[in-house]
Amino acid sequence: MAEGLVMVKKKSLAHYRAKRDFKTSPEPKGDTIKSSKKPIFVIQKHKATQLHYDVRLEIDGVLVSWAVPKGPSTDPTVKRLAVRTEDHPFEYAQFEGIIPEGNYGAGTVMVWDRGTYKNIKMKSGKLVPMNECLKNGQVEVWLEGKKLQGGYVFIEIRPEKNQWLLKKIDDEMADARRNPVSTEPDSALTGRTMDEIAQDNNELILRM
Ligand code: MN
Repeated sequence: MAEGLVMVKKKSLAHYRAKRDFKTSPEPKGDTIKSSKKPIFVIQKHKATQLHYDVRLEIDGVLVSWAVPKGPSTDPTVKRLAVRTEDHPFEYAQFEGIIPEGNYGAGTVMVWDRGTYKNIKMKSGKLVPMNECLKNGQVEVWLEGKKLQGGYVFIEIRPEKNQWLLKKIDDEMADARRNPVSTEPDSALTGRTMDEIAQDNNELILRM
């Protein structure tokens, strides 16, 4: 296999697919086998029943995902609840648009931040593979995004409820004065606002 190419774990997308009707939702099915050389991350702002931020890390060709109601913070003293959700296909990182009414997760989806990440979880002087980090409930990554940079840690707190905490590591990129969730609300992919994404989608439908 070519370097940097990872087989998608199709089985891990079973939950994702079971929840969706791809005849009525424009979301990707996840058929492509695809992985970037450097693993990617994406944070999607999702205005569903409740506004939340879906933080996704590429691991073994799929996007391992957490829903973070308040979004990530750059302040290392702030802990944010992160609820682990179903793995999403790699192509989902490019998805920005509307999930139509009546579908699972109906509402507007924006690519709020995107970039690459590095695993930084060490044990006895060695990097712990991401899969093991997930199993152990302790993930540590260095993000290189447009809005978020530096170390973040995910700590599993209530496995039976899929509850984790997301926290900024206190490193040189930590900044308690920044609040990108409110000061940088627009798309990292297209620069659009949530309203513009909804508007563009309606115009697309009217033209069809
Ligand atoms: Mn969501």
